[in-house]
Amino acid sequence: MKVERAVLREIGLELREPFRTRRGTVHHRRVLLLTLEGEGLEGWAECVAGVDASFPETVDTAWRALEEGLLPRVVGRQLTRPEEVLSWGSGLGDHRMALAAVEMAAWDLGARAEGVSLARKLGGERASVEVGVSIGLQPSDARLEEVVAGYLADGYERVKIKIEAGRDVEMLARVRERFPRVRLWADANAAYTLADAPRLRELDALGLELLEQPLAANDLVGHARLQEMLTTPLCLDESIGSEADARRALELGACRVVNLKPGRVGGLTESLRIHDLLHSAGIPIWCGGMLESGIGRAHNLALASLPGFTLPGDISASRRYWVRDIVTPALELSAGRMAVPSAPGIGVTVDLERVRALTVREAVLAAPSAHARTGRKHQGQ
Ligand code: MG
Repeated sequence: MKVERAVLREIGLELREPFRTRRGTVHHRRVLLLTLEGEGLEGWAECVAGVDASFPETVDTAWRALEEGLLPRVVGRQLTRPEEVLSWGSGLGDHRMALAAVEMAAWDLGARAEGVSLARKLGGERASVEVGVSIGLQPSDARLEEVVAGYLADGYERVKIKIEAGRDVEMLARVRERFPRVRLWADANAAYTLADAPRLRELDALGLELLEQPLAANDLVGHARLQEMLTTPLCLDESIGSEADARRALELGACRVVNLKPGRVGGLTESLRIHDLLHSAGIPIWCGGMLESGIGRAHNLALASLPGFTLPGDISASRRYWVRDIVTPALELSAGRMAVPSAPGIGVTVDLERVRALTVREAVLAAPSAHARTGRKHQGQ
């Protein structure tokens, strides 16, 4: 199939409530959406780039990489298999979040062309997946308990709580005391160093199912040392940017669990490689989230239907984050699980009218035979 047109959009999506991690607080998500078109079909994807310099790629760097670097190489090209897209970025530098958007849109387009769901095309086996919820830093312990109680009442299978120095052991101990049987995870987003090992060992008493990314992303050796000191399984997130990273982590014994985010590792092809490596090594995988709209979430649901994803992912319902999502119907939770869409491609319908209304800038790249334009609108929202 020839890729005839690409449409890159930035939309602004309002969060139901601010999401706070040690990186900062997000009130309003800037979301990059990409559509690839060919043979009357559209493939959709979302770029997970962040909004500030704490992320390796931001909405602005990814926009530029896509508009000026990647998309001119994509439009007008024959697309036979989505895996081919990986080589199309060669020589452009490391823009793997931007590249993932192209690659994932190509997977959606390919699945739609075959008339199969993305989950099926990827080799997924489950009709629904267990999901959990990720809870940002709260203003007080009392508020945290209230929030946890609310999500458990909503039916989430497990709760993951963001921690940082000074907001860790005592805070989690209170949650554990109030909810003795809940599946409890903690995510440090690299807030600690190996010198904090004695403090982190205190978490062992709380029966956490895992502790996510306590140390810096590039400190695999540190994680391996820390894992030797803790009984709580360590899970790597920010450290896993590629299959090579996963292989190194495995060889060093740096973790016992992996959080796999397709939009961060360069797309679904690399995700499949990481899945196959870890699944065969017996390392449980789960699918994390990066404040995606329903489009990115639908991709994540398809991936999480693969057999190696044995722990509940951060693939919450649309209403967990958004006042109103951009897919219809909104993604809903049912008895602690979410259904994997079975319609062709990502299997959700994009509310194009709403996407257009939320668009703050747009670039359209078309193959030479079609009319090409590049434009911006409603700047400054
Ligand atoms: Mg994380």
